[in-house]
Amino acid sequence: MPTAIVSAMHQELAAVLALMPDEHKQVAAGREFWVGHLHGREVVVVLSRIGKVAAATTATALIERFGVQRIVFTGVAGGIAPGVARGDVVVADQFLQHDLDASPIFPRYEVPLYGLSRFATDAVLTDRLDAAVRHALPGTRVHRGLIASGDRFVSSATESQALQQALPEALCVEMEGAAIAQVCHDYGVPFAAVRTISDRADDDAHGDFVQFIEQVASRHSAAIVDALLMRSA
Ligand code: SAH
Repeated sequence: MPTAIVSAMHQELAAVLALMPDEHKQVAAGREFWVGHLHGREVVVVLSRIGKVAAATTATALIERFGVQRIVFTGVAGGIAPGVARGDVVVADQFLQHDLDASPIFPRYEVPLYGLSRFATDAVLTDRLDAAVRHALPGTRVHRGLIASGDRFVSSATESQALQQALPEALCVEMEGAAIAQVCHDYGVPFAAVRTISDRADDDAHGDFVQFIEQVASRHSAAIVDALLMRSA
């Protein structure tokens, strides 16, 4: 059964597709899924699209239509914890939706009817992804912990400081991970995610982000995916 490789930006997807000898396109849910092999292993590569709902649809289609056995997300994020700098890599242990608030009926951040605010990634797949990152990008600083997702490109110091105060454990902020983690929780499908820090979610975030995607992020994603699939059992 295939492994899904998901990214939000097409520069990253292009770099992963370039590693595949035999990909062919299948369209479902208005998305292009690339089915083929990487290091002899079956993979399905797709753009999540941006934001939580789009990412949830993509994850659901991967599971329901393509029968994927595990989902690996690779992308970029804005650093919010002190010391999580541009060019560092964050491997997710847990995800939370920082923009979810059904209080006072449910505690802030809790997903109604789940009794949970945090969704854990799969421990075994996450360890393998962590090892792949260290193998592919020696010398890169790797953090591991909580990632906060929400439907906002966080691009002001005021907002990132408020997030940091509300969620001191959150290492970085992005727009898809918690949605995929919740879908994978529902279906019992292992999920792991890695994000390269493209910006500090502050007033310079937008300029930093555009430049970084072109120069660094796509190379990182392809190298990590390559190392993961080469080393997988
Ligand atoms: N296409 C737009 C921005 C894309 S949104 C542009 O070119 O400006 C940013 C993507 O990168 C999302 O998929 C999100 O997951 C991630 N990301 C990177 N930095 C982020 C930040 N500061 N806040 C939220 N998401 C961020």
